[in-house]
Amino acid sequence: MGYPVCYNLTNSTNFTGIIVNPTQRPFRINIGFLINQPVGALREIPLEFESYSLENEYPVEDFQGVISLARTQNGIRSLVDINAKIDAECSLCLKSIEQNLHTEFEEIFTFENRPLSEEEQIIPEDGNIDFEPLIREYLMLEMPYNPICRPDCKGLCTVCGQNLNEKDCGHPHPRRSSEQTLSELNPKELLGN
Ligand SMILES: [Zn+2]
Ligand SMILES: [Zn+2]
Repeated sequence: MGYPVCYNLTNSTNFTGIIVNPTQRPFRINIGFLINQPVGALREIPLEFESYSLENEYPVEDFQGVISLARTQNGIRSLVDINAKIDAECSLCLKSIEQNLHTEFEEIFTFENRPLSEEEQIIPEDGNIDFEPLIREYLMLEMPYNPICRPDCKGLCTVCGQNLNEKDCGHPHPRRSSEQTLSELNPKELLGN
């Protein structure tokens, strides 16, 4: 299991990748270094983990991401781009599979303590923004509701439970409803004739 690479951003203009203890919050970024920069100043923060448990309850592997921060008039605009794999189970045959997830999202943070638009969040007084809850939420949204191991997965026999990708047990198997719909719909009916 690899240790996350993190970046010490405080008082630093040149990043040095440092190894941090994974019990620390590697997605907590102190944006202090951008506060005195002109509007438009940019900083990209790469993040890589062989494996990591987001919020200690959502394990991911091969985590690769970039958090791009830009100084705006009133705060910081962040663009987050993440690729990760999670362990999942085929919803048809229950085989364990690796599901690739990709998410991209934008969050706006403001220094000002005034009524905010719904999209804006206030930057905490200590200047630390923790992206971990957001990353977990957005990645979870990308998880397919019914992941499958392959497009033509045959699933399990409803009589004996045999994985039909591995062997045909000989019981009659109704085709999956999605296949039926595609092959049995009459195109003329679709057109209303
Ligand atoms: Zn399957
Ligand atoms: Zn069977």
